[in-house]
Amino acid sequence: MNVSIQRQFMEPSPAADATGDRNTFKSPLTKLIDDRTYGRFDKRKSALYYGQYYAEGVQAKVRAKARKKMVQGIETNTPGNTLKDVALYSAVKSVYTRGQTYGTPTGPVATESAGAATAEFCRGPNIPNWGLKSWTPLTAGLPTPEKLGVSRYSGSPREAAQIVKHAGIQFGAARVGITGLDKRHVYSRDCDGKEVVFEDVDKPYETGEKRVIPEKCRYVIVFLLEMPYDAFGCAPDPVGSMGPFFTYSRIDQLLAPMAEFIRVLGYTAIPSSNDTAPNGPFAIEAGLGEQCRADKVINPDLGTMIRICKIITDLPLELDQPQDFGIEAFCKVCDRCIEACPVDAVSKDREPSFDRPGEWVNPGHKTWHGRWPVCWAYAESKGGACGICVPVCPWNKPNTLVFRTIKALVRRTSVFNRVLVKLDKMLGYGKPLSTEDWWRKKLPTYGIDTRR
Ligand code: SF4
Ligand code: SF4
Repeated sequence: MNVSIQRQFMEPSPAADATGDRNTFKSPLTKLIDDRTYGRFDKRKSALYYGQYYAEGVQAKVRAKARKKMVQGIETNTPGNTLKDVALYSAVKSVYTRGQTYGTPTGPVATESAGAATAEFCRGPNIPNWGLKSWTPLTAGLPTPEKLGVSRYSGSPREAAQIVKHAGIQFGAARVGITGLDKRHVYSRDCDGKEVVFEDVDKPYETGEKRVIPEKCRYVIVFLLEMPYDAFGCAPDPVGSMGPFFTYSRIDQLLAPMAEFIRVLGYTAIPSSNDTAPNGPFAIEAGLGEQCRADKVINPDLGTMIRICKIITDLPLELDQPQDFGIEAFCKVCDRCIEACPVDAVSKDREPSFDRPGEWVNPGHKTWHGRWPVCWAYAESKGGACGICVPVCPWNKPNTLVFRTIKALVRRTSVFNRVLVKLDKMLGYGKPLSTEDWWRKKLPTYGIDTRR
């Protein structure tokens, strides 16, 4: 076994062995996690479900108003809200909302009996074990080593890490990292109220009450997918909202073959988008970025222009390590997302803290705690995903020599950070783009500069 894996997986205690609780990986994010209070979170409390943090009926009114605005925009051909804009935004959801046509629907959301509450709480990328993200093989007759009567893959953890990273890039990831599975990151209950539990079983499974992750699944492969930069210039109009939703569809297109790849190697794969566990802690542990003021992960090359997904597996893999890119220090003096947010949702605190502003925050983790229910309510009032704060972030920059040099400087010292924020504003980066201009722009494939 690789040295780094030995270092991070602690030996199970006799007590843990007795309960079968042998997955003892502990997050290396010791400065961000308070062991005394950090624990598993009920996803239903998330700010995404902002309705519970407002008076009854507010969310319904927000939705009704957004729909009315959409219809009016189409009828009056309002720039940014015309039929072609709405068509584009609606079309990109087709892969992840209709993923069940590619495989066997599993879980209650995919059935006729799904209740209104379940449908409300589990939409799109939040639906666990469903469609292309099935926890069981999608392909009938998948030639697993078990079926072929051959031995499963037996490469070293280092070789295994290399091939899964290579396959991840082939299937559409911009970056791939690997960490262990700290169970405390996994939701106690998912969006539909089902418990997520760990059992000493061979395969993941789901019942009416729970989803079960095998104890042997101790590794997490984390994928970053780049989002289309130019489209975000149109945020919060439908073309801007198309960016993240398009990327969620790409996530399903990546997770499906990645999971099948691991299964054909002879191992378990539990693909996950925004379901089952939040992605941020895993991405930071895997050295793919740092958390930022806007409650996102910033990758030093791709900025916040990313969406993240993961696969939980028992394939032994060499682990990556968290890195200090100078991002947290930069956010302490940067105010670009604060200035950009129309509803004052981003924290103005200089330092991140463990203070918990509301029930939507999992106790025991240190970050900038914004008013995220307000953010989600605003996003829904616009009929989409908002995202105004994304293109203004100084980390979302073209891959030029100048910016590579600046990022290298930020990594070494925080002395110039304030000057760099001023320079960023002076140079006019992150300015909004009119939707009509976006429709006329020459786009790279997928709207993404894949040369980063
Ligand atoms: S997504 Fe929009 S509402 Fe939310 S923090 Fe960013 S700018 Fe503010
Ligand atoms: S805009 Fe500035 S403060 Fe906000 S996330 Fe980006 S670097 Fe951090």
